[in-house]
Amino acid sequence: MRIAICGGGVIGASLAYYLSLGGADVVLIERDQIAGGASGKSGGFLALDWCDGSALAQLARRSFALHEELAETFGNPWGYRRLDTYGAFAPATSTSGESGRADHRVWLNKSVATYRQLGTVSTTAQVTPDAFTRGMVDQAVMRGASVQIGQVTGIIQDQGSGRVSGVEIGGRPHEADAVVITMGPWSAQARHWMPMRDVLGLMGHSVLLKPTTSIPAEALFLELERQDGSSDTPEVFPRPDGTVYVCGLSTNAVLPDDPREVRTDPKSTSRLRTMAAAISPLLADAELLAAHACYRPVTRDGLPLMGAVPHIDGAFVATGHSVWGMLNAPASGEAMAALILKGQSSGVDLTPFDPGRAV
Ligand SMILES: Cc1cc2nc3c(=O)[nH]c(=O)nc-3n(C[C@H](O)[C@H](O)[C@H](O)COP(=O)(O)OP(=O)(O)OC[C@H]3O[C@@H](n4cnc5c(N)ncnc54)[C@H](O)[C@@H]3O)c2cc1C
Repeated sequence: MRIAICGGGVIGASLAYYLSLGGADVVLIERDQIAGGASGKSGGFLALDWCDGSALAQLARRSFALHEELAETFGNPWGYRRLDTYGAFAPATSTSGESGRADHRVWLNKSVATYRQLGTVSTTAQVTPDAFTRGMVDQAVMRGASVQIGQVTGIIQDQGSGRVSGVEIGGRPHEADAVVITMGPWSAQARHWMPMRDVLGLMGHSVLLKPTTSIPAEALFLELERQDGSSDTPEVFPRPDGTVYVCGLSTNAVLPDDPREVRTDPKSTSRLRTMAAAISPLLADAELLAAHACYRPVTRDGLPLMGAVPHIDGAFVATGHSVWGMLNAPASGEAMAALILKGQSSGVDLTPFDPGRAV
């Protein structure tokens, strides 16, 4: 079966791997570069049970297990590791009498108290996102998949049956028996080609820092109180290569049509650096390796869109993973591959994510 996957983020990459493993003839078409969008710029934080009680629970638990399995199978070229995770708070004005439950970790500023352990090495982990995404593409390529850099500009349907017979890449036809839209926030552009629910892009900023002293494997979710009573809520993920990723600013900037036009904003970079300095003296002195902006794909009801596109045989979509795309990519790829190749998802029930569900 010839399958065209449109979009080389973590969802397209994971799907390419599981489809190739299942014996499909896969082409992964990417407009800009593999992992060039949110999949190369995210935190890479993974949690076993943070989606429990929601429709994402099964997907998250299956994915958490697959992340470990994939890292073991392929020699972990993407920095997978388990880590402890803490919630922390810093008041606008430092007080000496902190709550009895508060704890201080040596690498943090004195004003920052960790008040709660949110995860342990049994329940939280991380990957380096661009390495994971590229690694999954490499594994797909080793199993016969090919990668084409080009813009998908439409789908082609058989004139009689209406069934999908290929895609247009930069206006040129490419034959395929099935087409999957994995264009992240740009999946909205496929609404010109097929019936699709809304997919929106929510902009996030991040910085990658290199401290001179290494920081323990502890992820932090912080609340930094400001003088005016409002708070910043940065997230800090130290990585095994000694770098530290800091994110936590979202803005409503409009998604540009072309992924290459996503720009970082110097003000957001500077605010993130100020927050990092307020968290730890080691981060205050750290070298700035990169500043990123990207858009995560979100849907109106907060759930991914995964499954067959209604009314067009051979058309599928997998997007809208919002803040959990890195975590949920493996089980999304596994389940979608089974759906496309065998007609039924495996590992996870995709019914809650049906692209044709009622709004
Ligand atoms: C700041 C931030 C931090 C995050 N942290 C985490 C985290 O810690 N843990 C977690 O689980 N998730 C996290 N996420 C969410 C995660 O990054 C996303 O859910 C995930 O990357 C989405 O992957 P995707 O493959 O759907 O989309 P994308 O990564 O956007 O990939 C889509 C690809 O499609 C390509 N494309 C677009 N149009 C076309 C076209 N016409 N033809 C061909 N290709 C096209 C684009 O160039 C792009 O490469 C974070 C997100 C943000 C913004």
